[in-house]
Amino acid sequence: MIARLNSPDYDRWAAQIHRTSGCRQPIHLRGKVDHFDRATGRLLHRYTTRTEPDGVLRLPCKTRRASRCPACAEVYRADTYHLIRAGLTGGKGVPETVTTHPTLFITLTAPSFGPVHARREQRSKVQPCHPRRDAATCPHGRVMSCTTKHSPDDPRLGEPLCPHCYDYTGSVLFNALAPLLWKRFADSLRRHLAKLGGLVLKELRHHLTVSFAKVAEYQRRGVVHFHAVIRLDGPGGPTAPPPTWATADILTQAVEHAARVVSALAPAYDGQPARLFKWGTQLDIRPITLTGDLTEQAVAGYIAKYATKAAECVGTLDRRINPLDNLDAFNLREHARRLITTCMHLGTLTELAELRLAEWAHMLGFRGHFSTRSRRYSTTLGALRAAREQHIHEHQIITGRLPLFDEDTVLVISEWEYAGKGHSVGDQLLAAAITGARLERSPHEL
Ligand SMILES: [Zn+2]
Ligand SMILES: [Zn+2]
Ligand SMILES: [Zn+2]
Repeated sequence: MIARLNSPDYDRWAAQIHRTSGCRQPIHLRGKVDHFDRATGRLLHRYTTRTEPDGVLRLPCKTRRASRCPACAEVYRADTYHLIRAGLTGGKGVPETVTTHPTLFITLTAPSFGPVHARREQRSKVQPCHPRRDAATCPHGRVMSCTTKHSPDDPRLGEPLCPHCYDYTGSVLFNALAPLLWKRFADSLRRHLAKLGGLVLKELRHHLTVSFAKVAEYQRRGVVHFHAVIRLDGPGGPTAPPPTWATADILTQAVEHAARVVSALAPAYDGQPARLFKWGTQLDIRPITLTGDLTEQAVAGYIAKYATKAAECVGTLDRRINPLDNLDAFNLREHARRLITTCMHLGTLTELAELRLAEWAHMLGFRGHFSTRSRRYSTTLGALRAAREQHIHEHQIITGRLPLFDEDTVLVISEWEYAGKGHSVGDQLLAAAITGARLERSPHEL
């Protein structure tokens, strides 16, 4: 730390750190950018990292995982928020008339894989977890009842009443099939909407577009469920109104139908029969309005929040697990550990190979995207990023980092190589002081 503070290029280093906006694990690049005059071949300008502190340029890691880098995840969260919100109220290229299109916020849940400790609230009063007067005793000698009123930070939340009875296999197979189940749900929704509108599926797109944005959330018990905004647009997207028959009621009917009928099959293995998975019976459907109890800000905030979270809340790891890793060394919660070992075991079976369970054990079997949108939903993250990078580019021209040349007459040749990432401990403290970033580390880094 002292060496950094006393080094002659400290200011330059501090400027680099400022540009990474508090990134906890910046990427280091070594390389150069040459600008040549296209007509004469003359070298007009050269930028090289050789003159930068430690000979590298530091760039933000751009992760979306808050557990890895809070600063970059915050950028992703804010972008996601604006993107979801634009799809609900207009803006960023989406017309404001989109507010008149039928729009629902739905939650598709996972089925039960056995009773777990849960915090239940009724009219903001905490209820007992699993009260059963004549509760049965399971084959492992546990009474299947729990009358505790759990506090929100109770570590038992999400843990099964009996881990030996709990269906760990079902839980990880459901996570592995959840992306397929979602796809089938979306297909069935379109098919049913076409039917309700008296159309064949092929004709639907000439009348109607179903736009959606969805996010996956891990429940404490370690299964994913999905929250989604579903909106009906006219043909081609949000610029045209949907046909008059396509109301919020019709959309609700179609969602209820699709959520009930779709299924996905896990193949048979090792003497176990093939197994059919469906959504859980809890289905939540709510209209989004500008004034009602579910506003567009609330929905956008909710989706953006889960877009930066993975399975950390279950107590698993936020990185891939190697088959040779000693799981004891990671200080995992027992429930997470059982889910991970189930993935690792099922992942060795050829019948289940296509589910790639071992590779996704740290995600408890789920290998889908956390946050996805249909093409017509709103603007894209790419467009938001491009707008920001354009701004940075202009800033760099003004501050003298890039020469102001006409792009057509200049040939730009760049060479970059990866030169590592992260900070030394001393640099990390200084960087946090400079950018005001919090020095939080995930338990697995310590
Ligand atoms: Zn970062
Ligand atoms: Zn309980
Ligand atoms: Zn039991």
